[in-house]
Amino acid sequence: MHIKINYPLKNFNTFGIALNAPFFSSFTDEQELLSLLNYVKAGQKEVLILGGGSNVLFTKQPQDWILKNEIKHFEIAEDSKDYAIVKSGAGNIWHEFVLETLKHNLFGLENLSLIPGCVGAAPMQNIGAYGVEIKSTFHHLDAIEIATMKNVSFNNQECKFGYRESVFKNIYKKKYVITHVYFKLSKIFQANIEYGAIKEQLTAMGIEKPTAKDVSNAVIAIRQSKLPDPKVLGNAGSFFKNPTISNEQFLPLKEKFPNMVSYPVANNEVKIAAGWLIEQCGLKGFRENDYGVHKNQALVLVNYGNASGSEIFQLSEMVIENVKSKFGITLEREVNIY
Ligand code: FAD
Ligand code: NAP
Repeated sequence: MHIKINYPLKNFNTFGIALNAPFFSSFTDEQELLSLLNYVKAGQKEVLILGGGSNVLFTKQPQDWILKNEIKHFEIAEDSKDYAIVKSGAGNIWHEFVLETLKHNLFGLENLSLIPGCVGAAPMQNIGAYGVEIKSTFHHLDAIEIATMKNVSFNNQECKFGYRESVFKNIYKKKYVITHVYFKLSKIFQANIEYGAIKEQLTAMGIEKPTAKDVSNAVIAIRQSKLPDPKVLGNAGSFFKNPTISNEQFLPLKEKFPNMVSYPVANNEVKIAAGWLIEQCGLKGFRENDYGVHKNQALVLVNYGNASGSEIFQLSEMVIENVKSKFGITLEREVNIY
């Protein structure tokens, strides 16, 4: 167990915010985690678990003891004719895990290729992209409850997955450390390529009947062409969720703004592309000092180098106010603010 004091976090959050952790340690198994939790409790500190740091914004000097999850594990926990249940350590890199499942000819995660971060954070916000969310393949997870240090499991229903939501992002925030995640993956591939530009990308690649690996490659190509690489430009992906509004609220807005980008969802509700709303406020490409709104994707706030977390947070406030005043819609942050 190695405990680092006053440890720089710049390389541990994809926004590249330069703050120091008062105490920082990593753990590679449950035993090490339990020892660290004992230490943290003895010092009457709180714990913040970090995976890849691709969905956090540090706005002030952290007070918590930061524990980086490095539990690496890959196992076919159950094998049957049509499916397998795969167990992954929470510290595995998500994209590497997806590629490993494809190597084993297990399907269902291919549309989620190249999402940054670790497996343990995936259930936090039911990660989703290109028409797929993990809730459709998530089986259960193992976690340690911080208060009692007991092992617990959560099945799919108990996680209460929603759009970029789960119990871990709200009522159980900072209450559990997710240690392993299990996915039920199919041995029969069914392409899910209706969403966005996947079909066009496959056509451009000369592929008519895609394999799962082809779909993964197409998603990788689209993502690399559209999204800023955090290694080059600090960001945490979409800063805001796409808001869902009632048909009642939507219809007059659509009359006033006929080009509004929207998608019908269940229960007479409509999802609005938040990036479009921000762009209409004239904020796409906005920059002041080292913080700004990305020039190609208005949903992404960026750090050009030395922005502070509080500057980026203030920018998000400004975006929310502008969208509220023009459209009457309140944007909700997707990124976890600390
Ligand atoms: P972190 O940022 O380290 O942590 C996020 C939150 O989860 C924190 O609150 C943290 O305390 C908690 N946490 C992390 N690990 C654990 C654990 N083991 N136990 C308990 N709590 C934990 N997201 C999508 O859904 N879809 C996308 O397509 C997508 N694209 C992105 C593209 C870019 C360029 C970037 C930068 C981000 C993108 N994201 C996307 C957001 C992000 O990658 C995901 O939310 C990812 O799952 C975060 O993983 P992480 O390990 O980096 O989490
Ligand atoms: P895009 O394809 O340009 O689409 C813009 C928005 O419209 C998306 O956010 C998406 O909502 C919605 N959308 C597009 N086609 C849709 C369809 N057929 N049905 C329903 N909704 C549709 O978006 P992008 O920025 O390039 O991202 C592509 C995918 O990667 C999206 O799924 C996005 O969520 C995901 N992504 C997420 C993050 C993150 O940090 N959370 C970052 C980058 C990319 P949804 O977001 O609900 O899919």
